[in-house]
Amino acid sequence: MNIPMSSPDITEAEIDAVNAVLRTPILSIGPQIERFEKAVASYVGLAQGVGVNSGTSGLHICVIAAGIEEDDYVITTPFSFVASANAILYERAVPVFVDIDQRTGNIDPRMVAEAAHELASGKPAAKRWLPPSLRDGPYTPRRLKSILPVHAFGQPADMDPILDVARELNLTVIEDSCEAIGSEYKGRKAGTLGDAGVFAFYPNKQMTTGEGGMIVTGRSDWADILRSLRNQGRDVFDAWLNHTRLGYNYRLDELSAALGCAQMERIDELISKRNQVATWYNAHIDTIPGVEKPFVTGTTSRMSWFVYVVRCNDAGQRDNLMALLQRRGIPSRPYFTPIHLQPFYKERFGWERGDFPSTEVAGDTFLALPFSSVMNEEQVDYVCENLREALGQIDKS
Ligand SMILES: *Cc1c(COP(=O)(O)O)cnc(C)c1O
Repeated sequence: MNIPMSSPDITEAEIDAVNAVLRTPILSIGPQIERFEKAVASYVGLAQGVGVNSGTSGLHICVIAAGIEEDDYVITTPFSFVASANAILYERAVPVFVDIDQRTGNIDPRMVAEAAHELASGKPAAKRWLPPSLRDGPYTPRRLKSILPVHAFGQPADMDPILDVARELNLTVIEDSCEAIGSEYKGRKAGTLGDAGVFAFYPNKQMTTGEGGMIVTGRSDWADILRSLRNQGRDVFDAWLNHTRLGYNYRLDELSAALGCAQMERIDELISKRNQVATWYNAHIDTIPGVEKPFVTGTTSRMSWFVYVVRCNDAGQRDNLMALLQRRGIPSRPYFTPIHLQPFYKERFGWERGDFPSTEVAGDTFLALPFSSVMNEEQVDYVCENLREALGQIDKS
């Protein structure tokens, strides 16, 4: 049985939608992007959607819209895909990592509050939150601008305490919702809780546009700046080719936007199919000794599954398991590799193993299994059968 790690879910409707665009002369900046923006904005219940050509470019221009500049601090998580921290580095700002709640994989809100208060207080002790390479220099308070939480694996971070401290200290909040379209936190949609939220549509996400992303925001001042930034800095109100700021070409083309519209028509179906696959997995994993199923916390009122990540006992067992599954033709991946341990971050900021213990345990023991909305029950059974046998082999050795 061939089981891919992930798979897009494309029907004739998506193919027809893209083909229809190809029969028109408008392949960029046309009606499809506007439709797609309205569809995503209304799905989450916000006024504005700004389409971009990736989740990463969306995060980048949100960082700019937030007024984050060189040497500013942004509190974020080291347990994420590297793009969430890279977006901060693009503006030469400093990612201030805060460790996670190991059960969910999301940033620990109590530690966020502690870090934010200390960093804003100006006390020299606040330096302990900074990357090691920056702890020697003089400490400048008031450089803390934003918090950038990530909704890992599709599960919303614990946002209320994060929003409380942001309000208290006048910080902006950018939600990396790239893995969490459709998820809900206490009945509120992920991506709508902060100043802006970013969704991503790479082919392994809940829905895809090939490459693509969407920023959602209730702030019209941000929406105007974001539309300008994605389109070469052109002022949205100004005359043709009047460039009022340094911008980028982060536009989403019409073919991708049409694909996105067709996927949005099916978004609830796509999410519920993934939920079904996760339910099949959960039933098996409950009966397999040596691995634990993903933890869904009480504040998650609706889970939109992006990946299915089991928890292993330790790094050795996880790595053995991955190798044994591979030999059986079943792909699996560590998810995530902590950002502070990525070679580039270690070298640039001096982080080392031991700096974020919970993130490191998660990075060592979490294993993503094959997962998509097009997986059928037989395939899930097959993966789990092999998982059980592989764990049996490890126990005996
Ligand atoms: C997918 C993803 C992104 C952005 O991905 P793109 O490939 O740039 O669309 C950002 N953050 C997280 C956590 C992601 O999973």
